Amino acid sequence: MSVKPEDFFKNIISHCKEYGYIFQSSEIYDGLSAVYDYGQNGAELKKNIREYWWKAMVQMHENIVGIDASIFMHPTTWKASGHVDAFNDPLIDNKDSKKRYRADVLIEEHVAKIEDKINKEVEKAAKRFENFDATMFKSTNARVLEYQKKIDEINSRFKNALNDNNLAEVKQIIIDCEIVCPISGSRNWTDVRQFNLMFSTSMGSVSEEASTIYLRPETAQGIFVNYLNVQKTGRMKLPFGIAQTGKAFRNEIVARQFIFRMREFEQMEMQFFVKPGTEMQYYEEWKNKRLAWHLSLGLGKENYKFHDHIKLAHYANAACDIEFQFPFGFKELEGIHSRTDFDLKQHEQYSGKKLQYFDVEENKSYVPYVVETSVGLDRLFLSILSAAYKEEPLENGETRTVLNLPPALAPIKIAVFPLVKKDGLPELAESIINDLKFDYAVAYDEKDTVGKRYRRHDAIGTPYCITVDHQSKEDKTVTVRHRDTMQQERLPITELNKFFENKVSFKSLLKQL
Ligand code: ATP
Repeated sequence: MSVKPEDFFKNIISHCKEYGYIFQSSEIYDGLSAVYDYGQNGAELKKNIREYWWKAMVQMHENIVGIDASIFMHPTTWKASGHVDAFNDPLIDNKDSKKRYRADVLIEEHVAKIEDKINKEVEKAAKRFENFDATMFKSTNARVLEYQKKIDEINSRFKNALNDNNLAEVKQIIIDCEIVCPISGSRNWTDVRQFNLMFSTSMGSVSEEASTIYLRPETAQGIFVNYLNVQKTGRMKLPFGIAQTGKAFRNEIVARQFIFRMREFEQMEMQFFVKPGTEMQYYEEWKNKRLAWHLSLGLGKENYKFHDHIKLAHYANAACDIEFQFPFGFKELEGIHSRTDFDLKQHEQYSGKKLQYFDVEENKSYVPYVVETSVGLDRLFLSILSAAYKEEPLENGETRTVLNLPPALAPIKIAVFPLVKKDGLPELAESIINDLKFDYAVAYDEKDTVGKRYRRHDAIGTPYCITVDHQSKEDKTVTVRHRDTMQQERLPITELNKFFENKVSFKSLLKQL
């Protein structure tokens, strides 16, 4: 069965609503743009993803500790970090549709379309020729070379325009590339302007005394301002890391694509403090470790790739993204950045406090360098959910919708059903739940036929269902049904705990790292 990509994504979004994963925020008031709430199953899945990240980063590394800093920070933090002056996106409006776009995204999407054309040429040729060599073809085919030349030209102009903060040139690129508004189809564009993405509010009950403070746009600064507190109280030695998960807020210009880009979202970040000069070694190490973490989820190696940044942020000397194949294409999932000593030095300068490390071996103090890993929890949620969502044709001609979630992350691990609502079967089912619930998230379900109950839990992503029938009363065995294979097996009740132990635990994931 082939579903169009846009329909497939729509199906995922409606599935999220129907099965209590994600709701539009304040839906009864028609929702708030790009803000979402997690429902009963979504909250569990999100908590499990967060916990897996925390265990992998903090529990599994002796030299990484975790903190929980506040969302509100002293306003000077954001002056020092550069966010007040430079946390901007270039925006452009189409005068006919009145729609607002990120100028950089319009250009990137245009480049992606040309890249698609190259891929199509390669695919066509691959079908025509035996022993096809794609690299050779790309370096010799006239049409492909022409496309590649265009891409290089646009990228180079764009990079220069951003470096020089030349917004007129950014607009000129949009005009020269003949980019049209997808809604109005016109090229009637306004000038490009910079738009600061930070939300501000005021602190203090009397408005005269109020001072502007910001909702943090990233969790990283909470780690930097606590660097010395943690280093001293934890007696940490370089290299060491500080991890944190928490909310961040960005007034995104274009916030579409469901939970991919939200105005309120959650980040999971780790800042790794290292001796200056060793940062590239740790940058490479963290790239590999973070990719291995993603691969351990079993969503398919082919769904991930690295993308090096063409324009480095003002604080970085190397940066890349781990991209994931979302239903709308490869997009950033996690950023890995070598942030140099920029942040700590800025905070030293603005606070007047030394934020250094005394290196006993070298007998001197210096400001450590930092390698950062930063992943959006909501984007991770979307990557897992969209890879897990399947519409599977069955032999009987029906379709089953199943979430093949990694079992350790599933909101409900085991569902227990009595075959019928009588003859003592519900009581036996309850007693099994009472035994398992200390270690696992377990659900009870007695409504509808067992077949329908299986479907319901397939759609929620429950990896195992247990059915209690009349035979269970006699020989104390039950049927355990596997979500992915739909296979069933008969097991003694006394062995259930042991059976599930290695199948749905974080240990099963952590051991792969
Ligand atoms: P993008 O280029 O998509 O705007 P970014 O490069 O600004 O992202 P970072 O500042 O590196 O993102 O943030 C780290 C991570 O936080 C991203 O990789 C992403 O997973 C997540 N993230 C950033 N902005 C959002 C958002 N608006 N909604 C959800 N997640 C986000």
